[in-house]
Amino acid sequence: MHHSIHNLIQIQKQIKLKIIETGSKIETPNIIAVSKTFPISDIIPLIDNGHIHFGENKIQDAMDKWPELKIKNKNIKLHLIGRLQTNKTKLAVKIFDYIHSLDSEKLANKIADEQIKQKKNIKIFIQINIGNEDQKSGINRDNIFQFYKYCKNLNLDIIGVMCIPPKDNGAINYFLEMNKINRELNLLELSMGMSEDFLEAVKNNATFLRIGSKIFGQRF
Ligand SMILES: *Cc1c(COP(=O)(O)O)cnc(C)c1O
Repeated sequence: MHHSIHNLIQIQKQIKLKIIETGSKIETPNIIAVSKTFPISDIIPLIDNGHIHFGENKIQDAMDKWPELKIKNKNIKLHLIGRLQTNKTKLAVKIFDYIHSLDSEKLANKIADEQIKQKKNIKIFIQINIGNEDQKSGINRDNIFQFYKYCKNLNLDIIGVMCIPPKDNGAINYFLEMNKINRELNLLELSMGMSEDFLEAVKNNATFLRIGSKIFGQRF
């Protein structure tokens, strides 16, 4: 068995236990296998084992790795989890099924235009800068309702919010806040939780976990 399949099974077991331990009616979240920096040869075993959701953070890497894999495996869903520069929107709309990093009105406009041109509808998460960090992109918590409305007016299919919390061991508080925001917006999907904090995210109703190194191994 390829190590990535073994790792994924372990993660699924941990999630199951966490849901039982929590004792509430939490839905089993989707796992996005974040394959950034890893070659196709590491990805194929997971595809052959039936895994559906994969994540990349760079447009060019996705274009290099995924077009053929997606043609051969029609059920695969590809997620853009990294920042999207507006000049790459066309390619992003072409190759991805989900975008997790919508973070500006300019980008929202661009995606809306491209979707019309390509007759394609992407599922979109609004990225929230939940820790108010200068170095991170994302919409400020205070502006989220206004921004959501802006996106709805463009007919974007906003399915939830996404965050990358600060590395200060306080992920749980940020996850609580994200869960609250999502409920206030009445959205169904919630993208949060990475290799080091995915179990905390599960407890707070994440529906899409983005897990890289715990599945594929350390990135160099
Ligand atoms: C790389 C990345 C992940 C996965 O990180 P791991 O710690 O390897 O699980 C998740 N989300 C985003 C936005 C990333 O860039």
